Amino acid sequence: MIDIRPIPAFDDNYIWLLTRDGYSGCAVVDPGDEDPVIERLQAEGLALDAILVTHKHGDHVGGIPGLKAVWPEAKVYGPAGEPIRTLEQRLHGGDRVELAGLGATFEVLDVPGHTEGHIAYFGEGALFCGDTLFAAGCGRVFSGTFEQLSDSLIRIGRLPPGTLVYCAHEYTLANLGFAAWVEPDNADLEARIVRDRRRREADEPTVPSTIAEELASNPFMRTDRDEVIAAASHWADTGLADRAAVFRALRSWKDKDYD
Ligand SMILES: [Zn+2]
Repeated sequence: MIDIRPIPAFDDNYIWLLTRDGYSGCAVVDPGDEDPVIERLQAEGLALDAILVTHKHGDHVGGIPGLKAVWPEAKVYGPAGEPIRTLEQRLHGGDRVELAGLGATFEVLDVPGHTEGHIAYFGEGALFCGDTLFAAGCGRVFSGTFEQLSDSLIRIGRLPPGTLVYCAHEYTLANLGFAAWVEPDNADLEARIVRDRRRREADEPTVPSTIAEELASNPFMRTDRDEVIAAASHWADTGLADRAAVFRALRSWKDKDYD
């Protein structure tokens, strides 16, 4: 059983550290900055075996050269469909990543939309989804399309409900505020807001959540629900033909009017 802990970076990024009791190697996911990783690994006496990255943005890959300088043996995995020069193993959807030392295996999922070639890693009861799905929200559409991100979130929603969702940012309270605009009468959402506010007041991360929680209170995962469709249609001032259209309206609403 692997242990998964956050290494906070920048203002609100989480670099995920994967370790196993009694083993001196480790892996990290999306190291945008090398300094907090080097500091943590050296404090814990860990050597870096592997770096997994989800997409090309600098706050996810910027620490790779600095980490390779300290641990040249660390292998760098990432999406085949993105221009990341520091990758050593280019991954496609359906590929498997076996981290032998940690005793962990992950399946690669194609989850484009935030960027054109974004991938996620699924295994060991966990999903590392970068900037695709956030706790109570989702990434913006940068170099992918609204249709791609809508489809990626629908496919993520079909993973086992207990899967722990390790996204790359602590954006949860802001996301919950928008979710409450969309679904003011959602009791699961209300309970989540109370719980996650307490966590942040105690300086604890709100991540990971679970797939079940996201399906219950994340509007971007609920684009087939009557109340979400109605709210999105009202904002767009038009009927919305399918889930992708509902998603586009929600995402545009949040981008233009919320943050
Ligand atoms: Zn990003």
